[in-house]
Amino acid sequence: MTGGDDIRIEMLISDFGGVLTTPLFQSFAAIHDAAGIPPESLGIALARITEKTGANPLFELECGRIPEAEFTRAMSEQLAEDLERPVDFGELGLRFFEALDPNIGMIDLIREVRREGLRTALLTNNVKEWEPLWRSMLPVDELFETVVDSAFVGVRKPDPRIYELTLERVELPPGACLFVDDLEINCEAASDLGFEVVHFRETAQARAEVHAKLGLTA
Ligand SMILES: [Mg+2]
Repeated sequence: MTGGDDIRIEMLISDFGGVLTTPLFQSFAAIHDAAGIPPESLGIALARITEKTGANPLFELECGRIPEAEFTRAMSEQLAEDLERPVDFGELGLRFFEALDPNIGMIDLIREVRREGLRTALLTNNVKEWEPLWRSMLPVDELFETVVDSAFVGVRKPDPRIYELTLERVELPPGACLFVDDLEINCEAASDLGFEVVHFRETAQARAEVHAKLGLTA
């Protein structure tokens, strides 16, 4: 954005995983450990299924086009083929969330932003069947007026359509929204559409950048 732009930011739109939670690599490690598979095997299995079917099964899952059970079955079969032994890839959601904790520093920031009179929304790539799991980690309805969940709207970040849908729901122009996400590709897509953006790398950095963007004192 250029210097002449003086739209006031009215809303903070936050990602969930890796921003409002502890880092996701812990969850991926837990999934690998529980299934007894080497660290690179998940990515390889996803790539092989994508090659065979023409669709990335993780994206299909996050867009709510396949149920979790179909995802875990396809992954179990592919991993068994790749590793030449049976692989138990079940209980995926439980394994994923057991390894995560709420990120209190960022949740406090959401509360602070609301106290300052700004609006807040959640924009998450997620899994339908995981809704009770992630919702149990934080008081979602107290923290956010709106939740846009990829699994329920059928489109995922960084597709521009999910950002546009979010703007329609909150009835704001992109320049009035500050978007926070730990994935650079999601931040770039938002920035391209005209959102203000903070790329979360770690809590202190993200808090400081959000404070600066909103003109709040730390
Ligand atoms: Mg994230």
